[in-house]
Amino acid sequence: MPKLNIHPAIAKLEKRIIALRRHFHQHPELSFQETETAQSILAELKGLNLEVRHPVARTGIVAVLRNGNGPCIALRADMDALPIQETGDRPYKSVNDGVMHACGHDGHLAILLGTLLALENSRDLWRGTLKFIFQPAEEGPAGARYMVEEGVLKEPKVRAIFGLHLWNYQDFGTIGVKAGAVMAAADRFTITVRGKGGHGAMPQGTVDAVIVAAQLVMSLQSIVSRNLNPLESGVVTVGQIHGGDNFNIIADEVTLTGTARAYREEDRQLIKSRIKAICDGTAASHGAAIELDYQDGYPPTINDPAMTEVAVQAARQVVGDGAGDPFRSMGGEDMAYFLQEVPGCFFFIGSAKPEHPEGAVPHHSSHFDFDERALTVGASMFVEIIQALLPPSG
Ligand SMILES: [Zn+2]
Ligand SMILES: [Zn+2]
Repeated sequence: MPKLNIHPAIAKLEKRIIALRRHFHQHPELSFQETETAQSILAELKGLNLEVRHPVARTGIVAVLRNGNGPCIALRADMDALPIQETGDRPYKSVNDGVMHACGHDGHLAILLGTLLALENSRDLWRGTLKFIFQPAEEGPAGARYMVEEGVLKEPKVRAIFGLHLWNYQDFGTIGVKAGAVMAAADRFTITVRGKGGHGAMPQGTVDAVIVAAQLVMSLQSIVSRNLNPLESGVVTVGQIHGGDNFNIIADEVTLTGTARAYREEDRQLIKSRIKAICDGTAASHGAAIELDYQDGYPPTINDPAMTEVAVQAARQVVGDGAGDPFRSMGGEDMAYFLQEVPGCFFFIGSAKPEHPEGAVPHHSSHFDFDERALTVGASMFVEIIQALLPPSG
């Protein structure tokens, strides 16, 4: 394993950061319901020389720390947990039935708070303005979008923003940083096929919605295989099909739902327009009516090259040879909304425990857990980035 270089200002706070993580883990809350979480964060901020805004985007918090003249850099953590019943038996197991921090956002909160405490206490390390963003509702409802709409990136104007994800798909001791797209656009669609039902033995005069739906499923798979540049990435998944009433009745209505993913905005638009064309063409060829409801989800998460270089240097400082490309997926992340507005970088802190092979304890599973040593690695990254961008002499 590469030699770690935990920042001294963070190393001092390790116990506190771990305790904070366990507290958040024990008291998880769902998207836009993070009220107790917000109270815990506010309690930590009490007595510090900060400007605190709350509530922002319902349950979020923004804390601004000023230290002389200089630009404003933002650091962001997400706050929400998932509707999962935690399995396993840890002393800090979730006390909220059916709710669990199964993505690592408990760790992100502890990392951001630890960074805040360290930089508040070590003002000689940097000069300028820091904006700490505690963001609700990452797991679906796009809390980041509401924060942007409520002006979180203004007053003071944010020049660059950084965020991270603890990442069990990478070993502890690694940090994944890459310019360009690191998470996908994640859209959702619902297709309703309306045909004309009838007797299962007398198809004449009917329009079989099941046949139309079956053809749709197969045709949709041709978008990625035949329309998309094979050197680019995309996924079209039909996750649900519902329709029909009985084995001997020709169904008159079938509903399909699915998700479309892409890294590039132009590929996202291509996939979207092809889904529409396939729906229209299939409807015409079968004499059915097909309705497409396509909902844009999170945009792709795109890292700025210059800010990524700052993060790469920070990663080399913290984990040496452990710095490299991240494990990428077609998952979505609402950090994308911030990165659409200001340059920045979203990076990945390897958090797989040595006793578990990479990815063996996947995010969003009921037995999710990560290596808590990754917490000080993440906080050290934030401190190194701030020192690089806001040097005390600058
Ligand atoms: Zn998640
Ligand atoms: Zn997450």
